[in-house]
Order: sequence, then structure tokens, then C-alpha cells
Amino acid sequence: MNDSNQGFDTLRIHAGYNPDDHQHSATVPIYQNAAFTLGTAERGRLAALGKVPAYTYSRLMNPTVRAFEERVARLDGGVDAVAVASGMAAVTYAVLSLAEGAGRIVLPHDIYGASLDEFLTLFPKYGVDFDLVDDINDTDELRAAIRPDTKAVFVESITNPGTHVTDVDRVSAVAHDAGVPLIVDNTFPTPYLFRPIEHGADIVLYSSTKGLNGHGNAIGGVIVDAGRFPWDSPRFPQFTEAEFTLYDEDERRSRSFHEVYGDAAYAKRLRAKYLRLFGAVLGPQEAYLSLLGLETISERLDKEVRNATEIARYLKTNPHVTQLFYSGLEGDAQEALVARDFPKGIGAILAFNVEGGEPRVERIIDNTKVFSYLPNVGDVRSLIVNPIRITHREIPFDLREKDNIGGSTIRLSIGLEDVRDLIEDLDQAIAKAYLD
Ligand SMILES: *Cc1c(COP(=O)(O)O)cnc(C)c1O
Repeated sequence: MNDSNQGFDTLRIHAGYNPDDHQHSATVPIYQNAAFTLGTAERGRLAALGKVPAYTYSRLMNPTVRAFEERVARLDGGVDAVAVASGMAAVTYAVLSLAEGAGRIVLPHDIYGASLDEFLTLFPKYGVDFDLVDDINDTDELRAAIRPDTKAVFVESITNPGTHVTDVDRVSAVAHDAGVPLIVDNTFPTPYLFRPIEHGADIVLYSSTKGLNGHGNAIGGVIVDAGRFPWDSPRFPQFTEAEFTLYDEDERRSRSFHEVYGDAAYAKRLRAKYLRLFGAVLGPQEAYLSLLGLETISERLDKEVRNATEIARYLKTNPHVTQLFYSGLEGDAQEALVARDFPKGIGAILAFNVEGGEPRVERIIDNTKVFSYLPNVGDVRSLIVNPIRITHREIPFDLREKDNIGGSTIRLSIGLEDVRDLIEDLDQAIAKAYLD
């Protein structure tokens, strides 16, 4: 089932699951249980030591969740993945597990609102500070921002709502030159449109709530480990220090995560320390829904990109639209980078500014009939939102201004409806908003 040469469309349906191990159930069953019987005392002892593969307790691992983890790891080309209860849990664990105790993270200013809020106002309370860069693709600016106590560079592959494309090859080269790993939040494109590990990323994370699942019915997150970073670096003592849970009874000594797991130490430690001790696990129901959503990811994304492109072209011709944010469109400043790294398109999310400011934006939203007004993206339903009131409320005023995001901005996430109906819906809503 899990042939290493299989293509993306085969893996998204079969990877990480063998029916022979599950009563020949063709689809992944929902293992709705907290614990697993250990069998004999000897098996229990070996299972707890990890010496026989066995499920013990669903906070550590659950078969439904494990299928989801292995599937996403395969789709991204990573060595392992850890699923968590939300995208924010993924951001939190990915960052704290590297900047444990203290340290700095370099990041661009235009990232997801809750992530930015966490970097600016919460991580510093845990001793984790930040250095913001304006243009993440500017090699000199990035290089200058990395300091001796920088623990990671954190980027989003496509930003929200500006849809700027990060040059992950370039950013990872600068980070690695400085001995620092690169974390990529790849939520917007999903591994169907972009696979950051192939471009040098060390850790990839997702809010699976969004396009990965694609049906807006389950909150979840995943962290994927590329398995390439040399974690025995003095910058990361947590990977080489003696760990009592890795005590070797024959040698009578504690071993380190790097000693036992080598370059795959990151995901192993994430599960053993962060998932097991902080405890934000993904539930089996959510994992099941996310697996179901993944089965159609390629067809969904292809149509969403086609629809989004047509809608972007329409918006460009609407006289009330003053600025369009969709880097996937012909003539965009990042056209060459998009052609190189995103041959299948940049995704389903776009944004635009209209004349007349917030009162007109509110009327456009209130007049749409097909679009759902809510804070989410990557759904099969088309969604509309006014970012500064809902999804980007946390972004400080000066940072919003830098990106020209304000009261005039509307963000769309394009779904699978007939594109003619979506364009008609926008067209009549915009027309009504300017009647007087
Ligand atoms: C939604 C989102 C998150 C947070 O995910 P939740 O599942 O809502 O916790 C993180 N990053 C990006 C880019 C997102 O869009």
C-alpha cells in the first residue's frame, strides 16, 4: 500500500493505512477510545519502552490520528508528523519546542493574526522574543535579523490576506547558513500546491481546519518533520541532554533524543514532551473527517484555483475595486516566483480593496447571498470577511498600513460553486453597495 514511488494522488488516499491491520476495513476506522489493552505484563513493559509497536493511550498516539499523521507526512515528504488539536497548537508547539526557555524567532510582519498576536504579546512572556522583517524575501534584511540566540525563522508560504509568496529556497538557504532551522506555515497552499520540504524547510505546519480538510467541519493542526536538521547543534541543548524517559535499562543510563532518534529527533521529542505533557491532542473524529477531506484535495484545489483566478480577473475590471491581492494573476509582481514554485496556482484565497471604505464594505457583505460571512478559509463553500473587524483585529495599526489592509479590505475564500454564480453574487452585491 505504501510504495515509496507512489504519486501524490495515490498517497492522499492510501498512505499511512493498511486495511490488513484493521479488520480489512476499506476506510480508516474511528478508534474512539482513550486506552488500549496491554496484553501481558511483558508486552506492557516493552510497549511503554517503545520496544514493540503498540498503542497504549490516545494522548500519545491513536490509530485514526496516526493514519492522518502518516498521510500528511508522506504528502509533504517528511519523516514523521504530529497531529494536534488546532493550527494554533501547531504554531505554539513548533515554536516553543525550539525556543524552549529563551531565544528569538525571526518572522515577517504579515502573518496570520492569531500567530502574530502570539509572537508579539504571549511568547515574550515565556522568554521567547521576536525580530520582525518587512520583506522576508530580502536576503540582506533576513540575514541581518538573525542573531546568535535566534532559534528559528518562521514564515508562511502564502500570506493572509496579501497572498505574498515566500521564496522558501532563498529563506531556507539564509537560515541554514546561520545554523537556524526554518518553520513554514503552509496552511494556505496545502501540500497539493506547494511542498516546502522540497524547498529546504525543516518543519512544516498546518491548520488542517482549512484547505487540508477543506470542508469547514473540524478544527485541527499538524506539524511535519523533514528529518534533516542537525539537532545536535549547541543552539538546541534540549536534543542532546540526557532524557530520563529514554533510560536504557541494559546500559543503565539516560540517553538523549538525538542519540536515540538522530535527525528524526524533532518529531519524536515533540510527541514525547509537547503532545504528551501539554496535551493538545487531535480527536479521532476530527482525524477521520480530515482524512476524508484529504481524499479529494487535488480536485478541490484545482477547481478552487480556477474559480479564484476567474473571480480575480472579474474584480480587476470592477470600477469600485481599487486594489487586488492575488499573486497568482498574470502581471503580478511575483509572477516569476509563482511560475517557478506554484505551477498549479497559489490557492483559493484572495483579497481586494474597494473605494468608499468601511460603510461600502459592510453593505457588500450584507448583500451577498451565495458567499458565507465567517472567519475561515479553504472551505468548499465560498467565504467572505472584512479582515480588520474579524480575522485581523489583532494586527497593530502600523502593520496593517504597511500592507494596505484596512477598512476598505474584503477577503474571499473561493469554494466549489459555479463560478458564474459567485461572480454574479459579487457583482450584484457591489452594485447595490454603491446605489446612492
Ligand atoms: C487558521 C490559521 C491558523 C490557526 O489555525 P486554527 O486551526 O484556527 O487554530 C494558523 N495559520 C494560518 C495561516 C491559518 O490560516
